[in-house]
Amino acid sequence: MTEAVSAETLHGFLTGRLQMPTRTATSDSTTPASVIRAERYRVRFDSPMQAALCAQIAGACRYVWNHMLADCQGRYRMWKAYRIGPRPSVSFFTLGKRFTALRHDPDHAWLKALPFHAVRYTLKYLADAYTRAFDSTDAGLPHFKSRHRTTPGFTLPDNVRLDGTRLYIPKVGWVRLAGNQGRYLGCPAKQVRLLKEGDARHPRWYAHVFHEVPADRLPPPAATGALGVDRNVGQATDSDGRVYAVPDTANLEANIKRKQRKADKARERSRRNGQPLSHRGRRICGQLSKLRRKQKRKRQSAAHRHSRRMADTAHTVVVEDLDTKAMTQSAKGTVEAPGRNVKQKAGLNREILKSNWGLLERQLAYKAGELVQVDPAYTSQTCAVCQHVDKANRKTQALFQCTACGHTANADHNAARNILARGLTLVRPARGVGASARRGAFPSGTPTTREPGRQGDPPPARAGPDGPAPVPGVNPSV
Ligand SMILES: [Zn+2]
Repeated sequence: MTEAVSAETLHGFLTGRLQMPTRTATSDSTTPASVIRAERYRVRFDSPMQAALCAQIAGACRYVWNHMLADCQGRYRMWKAYRIGPRPSVSFFTLGKRFTALRHDPDHAWLKALPFHAVRYTLKYLADAYTRAFDSTDAGLPHFKSRHRTTPGFTLPDNVRLDGTRLYIPKVGWVRLAGNQGRYLGCPAKQVRLLKEGDARHPRWYAHVFHEVPADRLPPPAATGALGVDRNVGQATDSDGRVYAVPDTANLEANIKRKQRKADKARERSRRNGQPLSHRGRRICGQLSKLRRKQKRKRQSAAHRHSRRMADTAHTVVVEDLDTKAMTQSAKGTVEAPGRNVKQKAGLNREILKSNWGLLERQLAYKAGELVQVDPAYTSQTCAVCQHVDKANRKTQALFQCTACGHTANADHNAARNILARGLTLVRPARGVGASARRGAFPSGTPTTREPGRQGDPPPARAGPDGPAPVPGVNPSV
């Protein structure tokens, strides 16, 4: 028996707003019966009609979102003006009832030709957006969805029918899933989110399927151990010396740059002539967005592979608390070349963005048992063996040589070991004291993540009641 993973959670995971529960707990034991794994497939339609229907469903979702958002705003304005009754509800339940009424409205009879559950589910996202806005200070109120600025898509929230490589979309029929190794294709699906990429002439539909994978089909997750990760320009290095390279997309970038120039010219030409974009111009823009999508896919794929490998290696992953946004915004960053050469820094900014630090971190937050962020100051100048801090320790970009004890290592590897050591000082005081003490051990605001399925069952390395257990993942001899 597995507990249901709420669809809301799955959506939150998909949009990167929530942490993913990597396992569902059984009622009688702590061993998980199944794990949710997301896979992305290309959708192959049997006829163009099917693709058109999917686009229609996505359009209906956008319409219903905007319609209900306007409705909610109107009700709220009325309530604010006259204060009659309680504040109007924006729960999924209320919105769902209004959707049912909308469907019976003669003006909206066209909604009946579209799958009820999939279209109604867009109101779940609307209700969630309101909840987030009310609960937190940094999330604003929901916005209207523009036809041009939103990725069209819809969700099959439950009762997903998956037959081998075929997926059933209500009112559309069976479609084929392709473009993946099909690792989890035999496993049942909890929820599917269908998204359209590409342009109007060449739509590409993708299905994000949340598979319920039996736990014994996957390698057991790391219950112990800790890993420090030094994220650098173009690559990351962990405290075991493993290097995670960002995919080399130099050719792709050169192509993008060239296409971008052509697209700019075409746009400029149309602006000068007061004419709409030419056929050739539109084709170039399409090719440009295709290249950009490819680049995005490559980066995301690399981040997923790397974060999965880190999370499988150790329970606790320690990273530097880098404010990627602030660092990439101005030339006054605190990186290797601070504030001197703005143009150089702009190049570094691109590199930082390219190495996808933020993405890797977000993925680690839900994949790793625990994510710890530490102060990044002097991690690259400190000797991991004798803790001697000296700028001269760093001989070159790659080589680290301690001026005090002579310890020589790869500079990134040395930094990763320092990061790990700092992370462990944060984790250590909490060992064996329970969850409340563990929370107290972290400065407030430090995002740490624990697997929900394991809350009452801290990993053995930190649960040892008698004395400090040997710190896993640290090899003192290195
Ligand atoms: Zn030293």
